[in-house]
Amino acid sequence: MLWKFTNLNKHGQLRSRIVYSEGALTIGQGFGPFIGVSRFRYQSRSPYHGVFISPVDGKKYLTPDWVEVLPETTIKDCYYEAPEEPKEKPQKWNFKSDSSDKEYVVRRNAMGNLSCNCWGFIAHKKCKHVKKFPEKLETKDKVRIFNLLIRKK
Ligand SMILES: [Zn+2]
Repeated sequence: MLWKFTNLNKHGQLRSRIVYSEGALTIGQGFGPFIGVSRFRYQSRSPYHGVFISPVDGKKYLTPDWVEVLPETTIKDCYYEAPEEPKEKPQKWNFKSDSSDKEYVVRRNAMGNLSCNCWGFIAHKKCKHVKKFPEKLETKDKVRIFNLLIRKK
């Protein structure tokens, strides 16, 4: 099995490395005041991954990522996780300008970030349309958007 082994070195910095052990990991003395151990698996960007010993350098790689892995690594030590679908659909609201018959569009992307197509927003990353935006939302959304706006300032 592969393990991610983290300890605090004498300079007070955390150091991590991947180690292999047959069965449970036994830890010797002299690793400093903090030791963290967790089961480790290599993450591939492809659901069709594999481990492969390169004829060029004799090292083992996770493919198709071409990440060098420990020689003991097997396919069981690798995994693929499908990217998460965005939880929210992008939304948009139209605002009629007070001074002209222009219409501005405030959009909220899947990350919850707001943007507007007016010059004020383009120049300063904030505008009255984005500020007005929470009025059009449900209360629980208002609180969340308000927090997002606060964080941006
Ligand atoms: Zn605007």
